[in-house]
Formats: sequence, structure tokens, C-alpha cells
Amino acid sequence: MPAVAYVNGRYGPIENAGVSVEDRGFQFADSLYEVVAFLNGRFLDWDKHLWRLRRGLASLFIEGVPGEAALLQIAHRLVARSRYSDGLLYIQVSRGAAKRDHGFPAGIAPTLVLTARRFDFAQRLPQLEKGVAAISLPDQRWARCDLKTTGLLPAVLAKQEAQAAGAFEALFVRDGPDGRKEVTEGGSTNMYMVDGRGRIVTHPVSARILPGIARDTLLGLARAAQIEVVERPFTLEEARAAPELFLTSTTAPILPIVRLDDAPVGAAAPGPVSRRLGEILWAEVRRQTGWRS
Ligand code: PLP
Repeated sequence: MPAVAYVNGRYGPIENAGVSVEDRGFQFADSLYEVVAFLNGRFLDWDKHLWRLRRGLASLFIEGVPGEAALLQIAHRLVARSRYSDGLLYIQVSRGAAKRDHGFPAGIAPTLVLTARRFDFAQRLPQLEKGVAAISLPDQRWARCDLKTTGLLPAVLAKQEAQAAGAFEALFVRDGPDGRKEVTEGGSTNMYMVDGRGRIVTHPVSARILPGIARDTLLGLARAAQIEVVERPFTLEEARAAPELFLTSTTAPILPIVRLDDAPVGAAAPGPVSRRLGEILWAEVRRQTGWRS
């Protein structure tokens, strides 16, 4: 079965789906998106993703998007049509299509696109055992990284550079106070270090990072397991000296980083805190969805 799409009321194969060349998502990246995992046919953390989408729509003054019950119904129908049991549901909302002009056009309806694709979550389990490599790069994004907009060019360039270097992820680094280089997050992931006392340290939620759904779930689970969490920016120097680094996202629920730039992280193998969090997080995935690898 090919991937399937929904565009403004119509379902069909993804190859036949399209939007206007005047769509503001295409013209201006005037659009937001969400990526929701489904495993065993069930959505993971659906309510949190919808909360973030609603928050983004309100921040960008995009109105007229179907309500949550209607979105869930479309999402369920699309996944059912796809016949995939494990995959990624992509939701994109743009301000709509109109003659090209920067200001908001009056009286247009938003464009709503959903797609469902197959995704093999089981591939993450051996990666969790082995760990992945990352490189550090300057964070060249805008000042509202908390909004999940489709304006992803800096992330595209950074992730391409990581890929060319044989790395899984690019870690963004920005000047903090006193010119210290702070790690904000990854190109498409949130970032964490484990400090010498076994605490998880991660950048606080702010306009400098995306409030990741996997981040929110992981930190909740960690606190419930009595693992201390410190939300503060950390420097690239601290990251280089940390015993463990790891990342989270919807598509890579948790992965240890065992190599940063040209140096090993800790013992160059996933450490005890990352491994424990891996067990806890995947147990939560199974609890929510009934997924079995
Ligand atoms: N940070 C950035 C910049 C991202 O693009 C993503 C996901 O695409 C994340 C973090 C992780 O967010 P989530 O856990 O909601 O997938």
C-alpha cells in the first residue's frame, strides 16, 4: 500500500495529492506542522500534539481549522485507509492559498493536509543499544524556535551536513550570556546531557527550543522514576565532558549519543542513565499503544 493523504476534505494516494502553487505554505512557509507516531494503529501522545498545534495556530493567528474531534476522525480514517499498523501521521496547516502578498489575505480558509506513512520503529531498538553520532553546528534559526513551522531551512542544511559527516544529528549551538556556547537542541530532536551526579540536564522550554512531545513525556517519566531533572542551558564544553548525552523525538523516542564531533562521549557506549530511560520510555510506548516489536 502506498502512503495516503488527506487534502482539504479529499482522501487519496499521496502521489495524486497537491495544493495550489499560491498556497502560503509553499510561498512563505506560512504554515505549521505536527508529526504524530502511531504504533499498533494507535496514536502516541495525541493530546499533547494537538495542544502544541493549537498553541501554534493561535500564535500565528490562523483560524478556521477543524476542531479536535474532527481532526481525530480524519486522522483515524487516514490511518485506516493506509492499512499501516506502525507509521507517522503528518499534519500540516497553512494560512491558505491567495494571490501572493505578505500580509494576511482576508477571507481565505486554511489548507489542511494530513499524510500517513509507514515507519519502522523497531529500527530504533538496535540504535538504542549502540548509540549514534552527532556534530555541533551554529544555530542559525530564527527567534521563535518554539513554533513548529515548516520554515525548516536551517535544520535542513544542518542535518544535511550531519549526514555528510556520517552523523545522525546536528546539535545547535548558540551564544548564551558571556558569549558561552550553549547547546539548544538538535536539528529535529531535543538534547540532554547527564551530569556527574546522574542528573538529566536539558535546555528549559523557551523560544530557543521546540517544546518536544517526547521531551515532555520523558521528563515526566524520569521524575516519576526519581531521576533528577535540571532544566537549564548547558554549554558545548559541558556536553563534551559529560558522561552521557542523548536525544529524543517522536521518530527517535530516545537515542544515546556516543560520539560528538571527533571525540567519544563518555565510554563511547550508551551509559546507565540513557539505558534506564530507554527502558522506561519504551515501556510507556507499549503501555499507550500495545505495541510489541
Ligand atoms: N526539536 C526540533 C527542532 C524538532 O524539529 C523536533 C521534532 O521534529 C523536536 C525537537 C522533537 O519534538 P517531538 O518530540 O515533538 O517530536
